[in-house]
Amino acid sequence: MIKKLPSSPKIGMVSLGCPKALVDSERILTKLRSEGYDLSSQYDDADVVLVNTCGFIDSAKEESLDAIGEAIAENGRVIVTGCLGHESDRIRERFPDILAITGPQQYEEVVSAVHDAAPIEASPYLDLVPEQGLKLTPRHYSYLKISEGCNHRCSFCIIPSLRGDLVSRRADAILREAEKLVAAGTKELLVIGQDSSAYGVDLRHQEYRWKDRMVRADLTDLARGLGELGAWVRLHYVYPYPHVDQLIPLMADGLILPYLDIPFQHASPSVLKQMKRPANEVKILDRIAKWREMVPDIALRSSFVVGFPGETEQDFQYLLDWMDEAQLDRVGAFRFEAVAGAAANAFEGAVPEEVKEERYQRLMEKAAHISAAKLQAKIGRDIPTIIDRTDGEGGASGRSYADAPEIDGEVHLRDAENLQIGDIVTVRVEDADEHDLFGVAIS
Ligand code: SF4
Repeated sequence: MIKKLPSSPKIGMVSLGCPKALVDSERILTKLRSEGYDLSSQYDDADVVLVNTCGFIDSAKEESLDAIGEAIAENGRVIVTGCLGHESDRIRERFPDILAITGPQQYEEVVSAVHDAAPIEASPYLDLVPEQGLKLTPRHYSYLKISEGCNHRCSFCIIPSLRGDLVSRRADAILREAEKLVAAGTKELLVIGQDSSAYGVDLRHQEYRWKDRMVRADLTDLARGLGELGAWVRLHYVYPYPHVDQLIPLMADGLILPYLDIPFQHASPSVLKQMKRPANEVKILDRIAKWREMVPDIALRSSFVVGFPGETEQDFQYLLDWMDEAQLDRVGAFRFEAVAGAAANAFEGAVPEEVKEERYQRLMEKAAHISAAKLQAKIGRDIPTIIDRTDGEGGASGRSYADAPEIDGEVHLRDAENLQIGDIVTVRVEDADEHDLFGVAIS
């Protein structure tokens, strides 16, 4: 039987403005062409028309609005981008039927709007990569990057100088990517960004259309949308800004995993001040207590730096006492290292290596002690677990809702002949050690 290959959607482009805008148009078309879109020079032949506008002076704005009007009249399916995109209210007021409006250099946003307006039909005969993209993680879990860069300037970190300030992705683009991953077999979405709780700040929490509703570029809205896709949703690198409290009801409702990875890095106020840590406030222990009232099983993971310049024994003891109170489920720690280019390298009060090592050991001992007690308390309980591997001899290993891949503990199962990688099962916990659980699947 002869297979008919799907035909590609056609894109029309009206490019106005300066040479920079022209280069933007070229980049957008190059990207769309590389994805398989065709180009059209006729309004009536295009599936969607892009108008790249100029907003330099009033006459240029009028010319852009006229071009939008012409494209609407001739074709009707129009996406606006470029400098006039900053005045989206003005454009919408005049042309309420516009499909999407983006600003200058928002390539991903324009391309994403085209995907929505004129999707390319997937074809196993034509596509070199699967629809969800190529993955280095196993099929059943995927990292989902929601932003790049960071607006903070922690004194030990050089990420902002390497990657720049926070740039968030559009909420609809993230949700679309997540939906594709879930359709391709992902059972667990691991949400990452340098500072996930700041997601959307740079976009002023703009709203994007997703299916039949609007979704704000904001971590709570995004987490809700991701939770509705039916996979586990695990949040990483969440700094405890006040709005993080809004995520807890989503956990109580089972939309996202009751798991928060919060890189506290220290607890002593003077060390945190020197570190210039964001969202560092004294009331965090009260907030943790409130989160636990709402979601008693919430798992909290964090990482800490010991031996930061100027850290005294008193500061370190403060951290240990804080850990006794916070009772974090999972803890990672690092001995402070001077990273080339970090401001902290010039700070006085370098901590000798042997003192760093001794503090590191004490911290890890404390963390292991807390972890062991918490895991012991899980013996006899039934815990949702995702299967990561099977050993071919009746055993399997996976992770509970409280364990992220690579960094947290594992759940080891006996009598697991029927389990497959990616299954999510309920495990009755029979035993525990400092980091791992042992049990059997009961459903
Ligand atoms: S440690 Fe995190 S929050 Fe601080 S500057 Fe680096 S990326 Fe930003």
